[in-house]
Parts: sequence; structure tokens; C-alpha cells
Amino acid sequence: MPSVRARGSTISIPPYLRLWQAKRDGDGGFEVVPEQDDAPRYAFLGVRACELAAIAIQDKVFLGEEHHDDFYARRRENALLIAVHCTHPAANCFCTSVGTGPRAQGGFDLALTEVIDSRQHFFVVEVGSKQGSAVLEGVNVQPATDTQWQQAQEAVENAARRIHKHLDTTDIKDLLYRHLDSPHWEEVAKRCLTCSNCTMVCPTCFCHTVEDVTNLQGTVAERWRKWDSCFHVDFSYIHGSPVRVSEASRYRQWITHKLASWQDQFGVIGCVGCGRCITWCPVGIDITEEVRVLRRSEEGKAAQTVPKEESYANA
Ligand code: SF4
Ligand code: SF4
Repeated sequence: MPSVRARGSTISIPPYLRLWQAKRDGDGGFEVVPEQDDAPRYAFLGVRACELAAIAIQDKVFLGEEHHDDFYARRRENALLIAVHCTHPAANCFCTSVGTGPRAQGGFDLALTEVIDSRQHFFVVEVGSKQGSAVLEGVNVQPATDTQWQQAQEAVENAARRIHKHLDTTDIKDLLYRHLDSPHWEEVAKRCLTCSNCTMVCPTCFCHTVEDVTNLQGTVAERWRKWDSCFHVDFSYIHGSPVRVSEASRYRQWITHKLASWQDQFGVIGCVGCGRCITWCPVGIDITEEVRVLRRSEEGKAAQTVPKEESYANA
């Protein structure tokens, strides 16, 4: 089964996807053969609220009028999404900071809440679509009692209370834009390996590259779409050299896009608070902590610019 845990775009953009082929016809010409894309029907089980939010973000990216992607649209239409309202947040989750969880707010066909204690174990199911309703017809279910419904609500509320990691999103777009030339990016670059793990696990990242290949006889050419990352130096290659050569510029690009310019492009922040980039960073770089450092640097400057009289008055 495909997973939405490694990049949300798995649902929509497989890691490798052939877009078309071109074949020589023997008369010196060639024929372009569009990809016969079967768009497999996948069921995604256990999708969390943050992942649904990420899928909604990708819908904005790939289903917009300006850049409509047929490959994405077909896979998206065929997907069955069975969500689980989260009752066991991980240490790096911060969905509560960005308003995406732990309760799934929509976009599912069915949503389950697991209630388990020493006396009982059951699931409360919510129906989110006709497709979900049809699936449920084949399952032996009973209407939830008020008590069961209440217990399910409490399980999710308890989960929210156990989420302690926090991203302060106040004014975050302008905060990032104010720090385009911050020396902090050089400090991050000393730690960042530009391994691209963070982008490969992020459910909202969708960067990809396009490669053309031919067979050895030169009779067939193919165009492939492959996952890529803004952390790869070649990702910004144009006209003889990459635009973002330094590690500092690539980390700045990633976090600034995620938290700031994404809002200009798609009207939403590009982070759903899943915490995976933190979990999978081999050197422990934490997006919430990097934002905190930027804020602190401004607080420091603000303190330095306080007039002497005022700082005495506040002392
Ligand atoms: S996972 Fe960590 S080390 Fe790797 S590119 Fe991302 S921030 Fe840098
Ligand atoms: S927490 Fe990290 S991996 Fe998750 S959506 Fe935000 S940037 Fe992506």
C-alpha cells in the first residue's frame, strides 16, 4: 500500500512517473505517445489530521486552474481516505500551533476515533462522503451512544493537551522576509547536511525535476518526472550554474518558502505541523526552534534600541 507518511505527494505524484514517450517512425519522423496513466485506486488507512491538511494544500497546488495536473487529479479522485483522529501525538507534533489537528476537520471519507482503556476497546466512525458511506454499508456497526461519542471527543481533546511543541505563527511571513539576510542562515548551514531528508518526508513538499532519457539505439525517448528537493544543489541549476550554491541559501529557501512565500503563492502556510522534518533530520534541526531563534534575535535588537531613560524606567 502507498503511504502518506513519506511525502503527501505519494498520493498524487509517485516518486517516479513517466509523462510521455517519443518513438521514431522509420521515416525520419517520430510519434509522441502520451502516457496511458491508469491512476491506481488506493485506500489510505489511518490518515492523520495533519496529513489531510497536507493533501488539502496539495489540492491547491495541483488542482488550481492555472497549473492543473491531470496525473494528480486522477489519483486524487480515485483515493479512499480513512482518517484516524489522533489520540497519540508524537513528541515532535505541533499541529495545534497551525490549526490542523489533532482532530481531522474534513477531507476524509471515513474518520475513526479509537477509544481504549482497561474495560473497553471500540472505534467511533464518522462518515465524510458518499464513498465512505458506501464502504460502511458492508461493515457491522451500531449507532454510537452519547457516552461513546463523549469518550471519543475526550480522547482527542486529551491528545491536544499532550502536544507541547509549539510554533509561534504570529506575523511569521514578515518575520521570515525580514531575515532574508540574517547571519543565522550561516549558523544553520554549519549543522545542515543538505541531505534533503526533511523535504522527502514532508507531506506538503512537492518539488520535482524532469528528466529525458533515450534507449541505446536512439529510437525511443522518454520524459520522466522524479521527486527532487530544494536542498539539492542542482535543483536551482540554470544557464551554467546553480542559483543557490551555499548550504545557507538552500536552508533559507526551504524554511522561507514553507512559512512565508507559500502564503503568497497558495494563500496558506506550507507547514501542517506534523513534525516529521524534525524527527528525520539526522542532526536535529528543528523548524520550530529556528523560528524561535529568529524571534529572539529581534527581541535582542529591540532591547538594544530601547532609549536609556526607558530602560531605566523599566528596570
Ligand atoms: S534533514 Fe536536517 S540536515 Fe538534512 S537537509 Fe533537512 S535540515 Fe538539513
Ligand atoms: S513539520 Fe516539517 S515535515 Fe511537517 S509539514 Fe511542517 S515543514 Fe513539513
